[in-house]
Amino acid sequence: MDRYGVFGNPIGHSKSPQIHALFAAQTGHALCYEALLAPLDDFPGFARAFFRDGQGANVTVPFKEQAYGMADQLTERARRAGAVNTLKKLEDGRLLGDNTDGAGLVSDLLNAGVALRGQRILLLGAGGAVRGVLEPLLAQKPAALIVANRTPSKAEQLAQEFGALGPLSASAFADLAEPVDLIINGTSASLGGELPPLADSLIRPGQTFCYDMMYAATPTAFCQWAAALGANTRDGLGMLVEQAAEAFELWRGVRPDTAPVLAEMRRQLS
Ligand code: NDP
Repeated sequence: MDRYGVFGNPIGHSKSPQIHALFAAQTGHALCYEALLAPLDDFPGFARAFFRDGQGANVTVPFKEQAYGMADQLTERARRAGAVNTLKKLEDGRLLGDNTDGAGLVSDLLNAGVALRGQRILLLGAGGAVRGVLEPLLAQKPAALIVANRTPSKAEQLAQEFGALGPLSASAFADLAEPVDLIINGTSASLGGELPPLADSLIRPGQTFCYDMMYAATPTAFCQWAAALGANTRDGLGMLVEQAAEAFELWRGVRPDTAPVLAEMRRQLS
């Protein structure tokens, strides 16, 4: 049976094994997919040993940069992101590195009926997740994409790096006041139940859509803030399922139907 897995540390919380088991059952592909605790001091050795008989792997915190470093070949989107969340063993044994996080976010937003083309989008954060979604978001041709971060210099750095790809600018949280069409929270503030310091005036009730890349059984602090101001909200569980579907397609050549899998994952989460 073909072998797949997700490498992380810690990894016990990962939902990827359930998601890929559902994809495998749906598509009739016989495969095994496990959550694997990779050692912090020898990720490359661990990954190489896995790929002696493994076919593909997802990579999560804190190994995405190391996976980027060890891939023999990179997709363009992984190269731009500077991080790899999906590895595939090629026929000659070399490893292809891809990054499916950004495509996952864009697919989930489009599934939810959220327009991106011509919209004013505010993206919060400047860490690995935000870096991975900048190019796919700009490819959707928004009117403006503003990246804002607690440490403003990191947002400015991203605006410089990706600015040639579209209308990207950087801002500090304190300078944001004008309403936008879409706010995407790519900070890890929600993990600690915190909220970036945002002006309520950013939200136009009934019009602004707010998306938190984090997901939880109950609404995140960011989604609660947005909903209280009359915004429509969505959390990142769909992004997780969509990035997994991109990886499954890369490995198996078939794209699973994500809607029933997202519904099942939501049921299990709540
Ligand atoms: P990083 O650690 O790389 O970056 C964290 C970012 O959050 C930084 O920009 C940091 O700002 C900011 N931040 C942290 N705490 C606060 C706070 N209290 N207030 C304001 N800003 C804060 O994390 P990632 O980019 O890897 O992940 C970010 C989020 O995205 C996580 O919640 C993660 O779970 C989620 N995610 C979801 C995915 C999905 O499939 N749904 C996929 C990938 C990520 P500073 O630079 O100032 O430190």
